[in-house]
Amino acid sequence: MSKHIVILGGGFGGLLSALTVRKYLSASQADVTLVNRWPTHQIITELHRLAAGNIKEEAVSLPLAKLLKGKSVNLKIATVEAVNPDARQVRLNDGSVLAYDTLVLALGSETAFFGIPGLAENSFVLKSVNDAHRIRNHILSKLDAFAQHGNEADGTIVVGGGGLTGVEVVGELADQMPEWCRSRGIDPADIRLYCVEAAPSILPGFPQELIDRAYSSLESRGVRFVTGQPITEVKGTEICLKDGSTIQAGTLIWSGGVQGHPIVASCGIEVNRGRAVVNEYLQSVSHPDIFVAGDSAVVMAEDGRPYPPTAQIAWQMGETIGYNIFAGWENAKMKPFKPVISGTLASLGRKDGIAAIGARRTQLKGIAATAMKEASHIRYLAHIKGLFALAH
Ligand code: NAD
Repeated sequence: MSKHIVILGGGFGGLLSALTVRKYLSASQADVTLVNRWPTHQIITELHRLAAGNIKEEAVSLPLAKLLKGKSVNLKIATVEAVNPDARQVRLNDGSVLAYDTLVLALGSETAFFGIPGLAENSFVLKSVNDAHRIRNHILSKLDAFAQHGNEADGTIVVGGGGLTGVEVVGELADQMPEWCRSRGIDPADIRLYCVEAAPSILPGFPQELIDRAYSSLESRGVRFVTGQPITEVKGTEICLKDGSTIQAGTLIWSGGVQGHPIVASCGIEVNRGRAVVNEYLQSVSHPDIFVAGDSAVVMAEDGRPYPPTAQIAWQMGETIGYNIFAGWENAKMKPFKPVISGTLASLGRKDGIAAIGARRTQLKGIAATAMKEASHIRYLAHIKGLFALAH
């Protein structure tokens, strides 16, 4: 009887695990099942564009059935409810139980709310295509209300957290806002678009020159920054900051950080702050029949610091895992995880961006960074044979 590989999650890590394992193991050698909570592979690195209506859903939400066509991968659309690593079983929300010989955990991360009162109940997050639609529809309804009644809160949008997610979202909204205002007869100058960051500066850890560029570029398009001020509480539309001041905002988008997935954190494998501890081959250190990809794992780089939870790391982890499952079964040597890190690329809206490229952190600004980000997106689509998305 052939063995069963179960892959949980159809994001960057899970999809690449499935595609890669099939390069090495035929359908007669292994059954492969990929479980995902929706039928699409979502390019979550582009969701800020969808939230602002600057890209079509079809371009960032690719049918998994199409990507896996001809690969002999069983696709199961369901939500994972529990993993039992000792019984080697996974329970799904449709009541079914999958038994596995090898498991890949690639469930991603969740938004962290840090126990801030009222935050989860009164904010939007940007982790899926549906989240992006929700944000856009909400902002548009608030702008409609603002055009009618002129209530300040309806015309105020706050992005909480000035990391890469927050900066990319606020940049995209800043570019879209004039058009949204024009079609409603609103003067764009009457709209307040804030980015509130707890640290003394946005983009902590970025080279100062690129931070300065982000400020000047975004401020010139109307973004107001509040830094050194953590959001401490949210009461309906009232956003409270540490210094006691408040902002009345009808829309709060929370991009203040991510944390490990609760199923990974609680299933009984060894974890560090909710993320699985893995060896250099990306196996759980407590359960070697479980490989962990993407944000679900914490992987230490050579400098002893964990790699950041990014898409480029996740899909390279998937590739390493796909090969290592085969190597483990064939008693061949597994490959240690050694990612190629091209750098950090962040958009500041449609026509501006910043990038720190390669080991020397070479800095790029403006159209060069924007073009490089687009090129890396296209490279990824080519890699997963998802270029049909570019038709949209
Ligand atoms: P993050 O943790 O990188 O940034 C969150 C920001 O929110 C931090 O600057 C933090 O100081 C701030 N914050 C936390 N609590 C706050 C509070 N109470 N009030 C105000 N601000 C608060 O999270 P992220 O931006 O979602 O990124 C998550 C990961 O994804 C990172 O590793 C990032 O590098 C990666 N990412 C990469 C890209 C890209 O490469 N273009 C884009 C998005 C995300």
